[in-house]
Formats: sequence, structure tokens, C-alpha cells
Amino acid sequence: MTASCGACERELEHGYLCPGDVLALAERLERMPKLYEALAGFLTPAAAGATEAVSHSHAGSRMPVDEAALDLRYGGIALVLESWRADVQRARGWGAPAAEGTVEGRVLRAARWLGMNLEWIAASYPAAGDLAREVREVEGAALSIVGAFPDRGRRIGQCVAVDASGVVCGATIRHQRGQTRLVCDWCGCKYEERDFLRLARLQPEGAA
Ligand SMILES: [Zn+2]
Ligand SMILES: [Zn+2]
Repeated sequence: MTASCGACERELEHGYLCPGDVLALAERLERMPKLYEALAGFLTPAAAGATEAVSHSHAGSRMPVDEAALDLRYGGIALVLESWRADVQRARGWGAPAAEGTVEGRVLRAARWLGMNLEWIAASYPAAGDLAREVREVEGAALSIVGAFPDRGRRIGQCVAVDASGVVCGATIRHQRGQTRLVCDWCGCKYEERDFLRLARLQPEGAA
């Protein structure tokens, strides 16, 4: 049997979602309740800043940001997650889930439920790719309002600088996209791009 990933069309031996897209979806579902929470801070136009007052998801309609945030908070996110949950339950031959309680609780429960059923979804649910895409879209819409998750950068390893007494610094060095030079926050040691590999090689065993 030949198959392909419903999200990226990569060929698969079986199933409907490739491991990379399963992971991305799992992470999005895990972040969703936090994102939902973050939207609360953007319900009034003042909070969003005057220059960012037009939402990307309603480009052209000149809708103020608070309405887009409102859409996502009161309905949008919960409805998207719940309708997918309902369809997965239907596909598994289970009854319809109840949508009750606060919207916040509904987002949390639906995201968690989908996360716990990802293995089955990836293996046996033909619409898995559409589910992954729609979760990505709703996350994109929310992120266009609240801004990106803070990027802490990729962890390169520990600072290998040695001080006068022979002690290794050991502070964590992170790399943010586009950075060509890293400075250790702790000891101030500088690493140029050509040193990155050396830094990786000099890592103490089991640390990377
Ligand atoms: Zn894929
Ligand atoms: Zn250091």
C-alpha cells in the first residue's frame, strides 16, 4: 500500500500523517490553550497598538484587531478543535462529545483529547491532513494578533571558556536565527561562526 502525508504530501508507508507533521500538530495542540489565554490581552484595540490595528486574517475589511481576537476567543478556536474532535469520535464509532463549560475549558479539553488521539489520527483517520492544516491556520490567525511565541533560540551547548583558575564556564549558549556571533551571557566569551562547530565538539560528555 502506498500512502502520502495529508499535510505535506511526503510519501508514507502507511497512515495519513508523517512523523514530522504529527509532532508539529502535537506541539500546536499543546500550545493552543496558552495561545487562547494570550488572546485575552488583545480584546481591546488599545492593547494591540495603533499601527497593528488591522488583522491579517480579515485583511482588507479594516476590522479592528479586537474583533478578530473576539472571534477566535469566543468560538473560533474552540469550535475548530471541537468539530475535529467530534468527527474523529464519529470515525471511531464513538458518540458525540459534549461541548459544555467555559470556552477556556472547552479549548483545553478538545486540544488535550486530540493530542491523546494523535496516534490513531495519524494512522487511521483519512482527514488527518486537513485537521493538521486547520489547526495550523487557527494558530496562525491567533499568532498574527498576539505576536510570535518568544524565541529563546536553539541551544548550541555549554560555554567552554576556561577562567584563570581553570574552571570551565558551562553557561548555556543559545543561537537565534541569523546570529553570526554568540556572546556568553555569563563570562562574556565570544564565539564567531567558525567557532560554533568547535563549541559543539568540545561539549562535556552527555551534555548536548
Ligand atoms: Zn507531512
Ligand atoms: Zn561563558
